[in-house]
Amino acid sequence: MPKIFADPLYRDCIQTATRSKGNERYGSLILKEGRVIGRGFNRAIAPPAFRLERVLKQGMANHSEVEALHDALMHLEDTQGADLYVAGFFPRTGQLFMHRTFTCVRCIPYLQEAGIENIFVPMPDGWKKRPMVAAAREATTFTNGTHSKRLDSVVGEYYLDSIGVTL
Ligand SMILES: [Zn+2]
Repeated sequence: MPKIFADPLYRDCIQTATRSKGNERYGSLILKEGRVIGRGFNRAIAPPAFRLERVLKQGMANHSEVEALHDALMHLEDTQGADLYVAGFFPRTGQLFMHRTFTCVRCIPYLQEAGIENIFVPMPDGWKKRPMVAAAREATTFTNGTHSKRLDSVVGEYYLDSIGVTL
């Protein structure tokens, strides 16, 4: 079994991601000094009547990273020097999103502004620590990243049911 499957933070991210309704579902945790100070999942912030394509195209969806940040800030937590953990899956197949790098250029400015120090992304053998400068640089290679581009870039074939999470 991949080592990360036993990691409580990973399991927590995936469990949080199951609350999303998107065609990619992510859960983010913000940790400071070993304590979870923020939690979020990606979700539409537009009226439910809006079509998903329109929601995505017009930016009326929040990513899990920003939702976790919002959660922390709403509870007056100090995010300076905190770390972000993000993991997710593709609900159509249940494939888990494993990646060596952080892929979201859109969230970088918010995370930088909040003083997030490192971003941790999941790989089968454990979390990969991406210091903010490296994460910001890597994420630019995913500018205008599409669903299929992300799907193609996923490492390995691991599925939700192998960690005992059901939708
Ligand atoms: Zn993002």
